[in-house]
Formats: sequence, structure tokens, C-alpha cells
Amino acid sequence: MRDPFGREISYLRVSVTDRCDFRCVYCMSEHMEFLPRAELLSLEELERLCAAFICKGVRRLRITGGEPLVRRNVIWLFERLGARIGDGLDELTLTTNGSQLARFALPLYAAGVRRVNVSLDTLDAGKFRVITRRGDLSKVLAGIDAARAAGLSIKINMVALRGINEDEIPHMLDWAHNHGMDLTLIETMPMGDVEHRVEQYLPLPLVRTRLEQRYTLEESPHRTGGPARYFRVAETGGCLGFITPLTHNFCESCNRVRITCTGMLYMCLGQNDSADLRSVLRASESDMLLDEAIDEAIARKPKGHDFIIHRRRPAPAMGRHMSLTGG
Ligand code: SAM
Repeated sequence: MRDPFGREISYLRVSVTDRCDFRCVYCMSEHMEFLPRAELLSLEELERLCAAFICKGVRRLRITGGEPLVRRNVIWLFERLGARIGDGLDELTLTTNGSQLARFALPLYAAGVRRVNVSLDTLDAGKFRVITRRGDLSKVLAGIDAARAAGLSIKINMVALRGINEDEIPHMLDWAHNHGMDLTLIETMPMGDVEHRVEQYLPLPLVRTRLEQRYTLEESPHRTGGPARYFRVAETGGCLGFITPLTHNFCESCNRVRITCTGMLYMCLGQNDSADLRSVLRASESDMLLDEAIDEAIARKPKGHDFIIHRRRPAPAMGRHMSLTGG
């Protein structure tokens, strides 16, 4: 699949639920209303959609949410998709908050998953509870231990929040690298209506300058086709990523599209245009219409997003929350 700007689309992110056991302050409102279950694609429908994308050239799949591991029987989907690794699919990965990893690490590995991104913004149990509004840090740490013991390679994703966890970044870096895990820092994006977005926004170039006073950051050629840029930290030997959708976007090399748990295909995380694949999927058992709908949507992939966080424009650029589209 090639979009009008010549970019090859080979990476699909699939949200399997909008539900989550956390309510992270930058992601959701405290009293988040979730979709009625009937609106969600069934696991079989999700598998059929993914299979259609694999046939069209998608080689990497990332399962996300909401919290993907709270979706009932989700391991079935991992098993079905994992069976396609080596048969069109190169990699099946997962983004999780880690709360259920202790239970699911072994089945995930058995299904063919080898790399997991765990979202973790602090190592302070009190702060963790405040950021997630309900999470238990010890469960996440136990999940990370179980995942490492199962043989999964882990990358920690940390949203950098001004005045909340910015002072912890060097400690998180040392901790992650000492445990053989990479760390990626993320700028908070204006998705969904949450309080204090403007105050929480911390531009990562500033963080990088501060880190460079303590560490030697050597630019790494490693690219994933996503918005991250990677550095090797000479003192730790580990890898540090920066995801900077606000200060720099790297849309020119974007290779991805996203499906929500209701089957809406978003060609860009930071734009509102979408294609309703659920009705196409349900209209016919043949994949012909689905193939056509995917082609039409890819032909509309925009050049890039225009995220902006501005004090004088506090309304979110995107009405939908990250938990719906899948981060
Ligand atoms: N529940 C899973 C998790 O915690 O990783 C998967 C879904 S979560 C929406 C995916 C990622 O998006 C997490 O790393 C989360 O921190 C991040 N995220 C959520 N809202 C965000 C926002 N407004 N800006 C930047 N990152 C955000």
C-alpha cells in the first residue's frame, strides 16, 4: 500500500478496547464513559481486519487500547495473529500499562510476541497513583519482571509531564537501562478534553538539553517509521527515544495507520478523517469491498498532523481520546 505522498504503509496499530483499568490524567477524564460493548468489533472481526491488512502489505502489527489486556479472551487474538508471523507478518507487538502482564507474559510469548512497550511515567508509588488515578505500581513492576523472565524485550514509554515527573527522568533512564530496557520519552499530545494539558506540556528539546549535561547522547540511525528519534547513552549503553509530535513531527516517513476498537480506520493520529471499516466488514463475507475501502482510505492519508498546544487555544485539537484511537 502506498499513499499519495509515496509512503509505504506497512504498520498497523489496532485498538482492541477503549476500556482501561487506569485513568491517566493526561489521557482520560476521571469519569470517562466507555463505549457500549455492542459497538466493539468482535475478536473474530478484528482478526479478519488484520488479515486483510496483512494481505495488503502490513508487516508489523501492534495491539493497543484502552488497555488491551483487559479485553476478555484477547490472548485468542494474539494466538491467531501470531500464527501469521513468518507468513506475511514480521512482528506482533503490544502496548500495555503492565497491570495484567504478570498473568499474560507467558501466553503472550507463546503466541509469538517478543517485544512489549510498557507505559510507565514514574517509579514513585504515590505519584503513580495520582497520575493513573487508581493504579498500583507494585503490580506493574511485577508485570515487568514477569515479562522479562518470560523472555520478552521491554521498552518503557514515559510521558514527560511538566512539574509532575520531569525531575524523575534521569532516575527512570538509569533504572530502565540498568534492567536492560530502553526508554522512550513522549510529549503530551492534545487528544481528548482533559484538564491542565497546557500546564503539563513539557517540550522534549528542553529535556534533551538537560540530559546532555549528565549523559553523552549519541544519535542512533535506528528508525521505526514513527515519530521517535533514538540515541545511544554512552554512560549506560542503553537506548533513549524522544517522541516529539509537537516540537518536531516526522510525518514524511510515516508508515502507519490505526484502527479503533469500533473499526474506524484513522490514517493519521492527529487528523479527524477516518473510514468506517466496520460497516464494510459486516456488509459482506467477501473481502472485496473491504479491500476497496482500505485502498480508498489510504489514498486519503494526509501529509501530516498539525498538533498544537497553546495557552490561548486551550481546546483539544482532537476531540477523541488516545484511548479510543490507540496510542
Ligand atoms: N493502556 C495501554 C498503555 O498504557 O500503554 C495502551 C494505550 S495508551 C492510550 C498508549 C500510550 O499513549 C501510553 O503510553 C500513554 O501514556 C500514551 N498517551 C495517552 N494519552 C496521551 C496523550 N494525550 N499524549 C501523549 N501520550 C499519551
